[in-house]
Amino acid sequence: MRGYSDLAEELRRRNARSVALQFPEGLKRRAGEIALFLKGEGFSVVVCGDPCYGACDLASDVIPHVDALVHFGHTPVGGEDEKVIFETYPIDFDPDVLKEAVPLLKQRRVGLVTTAQHVHLVPGMVQKLRELGVVAVTRRGSRGCGEGQVLGCAFGAAHIPDVEEILFVGTGLFHPTGVRLATKKRVVALDPLAGTAREVDEERFLRQRFGLVERARSARLFGLIVSTKTGQCRLALAQKLASRCRNAVVVAMREVDPDELLNLGFPAYVNFACPRLAYDDQSRFPAPVLSPCEFEILLGERDFSSYEIDEMP
Ligand code: SF4
Repeated sequence: MRGYSDLAEELRRRNARSVALQFPEGLKRRAGEIALFLKGEGFSVVVCGDPCYGACDLASDVIPHVDALVHFGHTPVGGEDEKVIFETYPIDFDPDVLKEAVPLLKQRRVGLVTTAQHVHLVPGMVQKLRELGVVAVTRRGSRGCGEGQVLGCAFGAAHIPDVEEILFVGTGLFHPTGVRLATKKRVVALDPLAGTAREVDEERFLRQRFGLVERARSARLFGLIVSTKTGQCRLALAQKLASRCRNAVVVAMREVDPDELLNLGFPAYVNFACPRLAYDDQSRFPAPVLSPCEFEILLGERDFSSYEIDEMP
């Protein structure tokens, strides 16, 4: 993220007088100080207080009321309003930490992927790996991602045809598991902040998803959840699947909230909003929430052996 003064300068360059600030949950605590700084610089400032998890969820209802929306912490996913300014939140680490991953790699030529927080370090990582005897290959990601960058809903940067192994550098298990399922290649995940590396095993994830599909089989009514957020709306796909199942109904909502799913009372749902909702938040939901691919398995249109991780176009 650039300094606050540089941000103020950018806003002046755009002749923006009124500005809205939107933060992901992890950065919201910065909202007050940044808002006060910009107010002190003469801007009229509004902080967007609703939950936000990605650039797919821009505060579109606020945009018409301001000259600029500053969206913090994410890179654009495409199709954004020209009023939107993206302020990424890069997190540095010492590239020396890559030494921890090298003993786990079986190949000397691997694909390299990371998340938005570390994507600025990709050239340095490639160089460090070369010093360690590993040729790292990168490609530009899908959904507006930069070189080597993946999102929880877009693993395009990992589809590198001439490598058999991928090194994921970042925190958490969801992204590397997604890379493994999207590419079917061996994946080593390095957490650069903890300094730990491991080979990714998707078996537990797949067992849980298989169990969920089986639980949903007895349902006589399915709610196909479509999000109305700017970059999450997959209405056409939901309608297509609804047309293939007489017990399926499309449900449009902004926040996919456990209480709302409880109120709706469907015995099972299929998620067409952010793919991570179905995968990460199942324990919060009152009923099985399947991915579109899992629904196809339930309908008998696909075999579990051809399981695919859900990705946004
Ligand atoms: S759809 Fe989900 S994973 Fe994709 S950018 Fe939005 S919040 Fe992130």
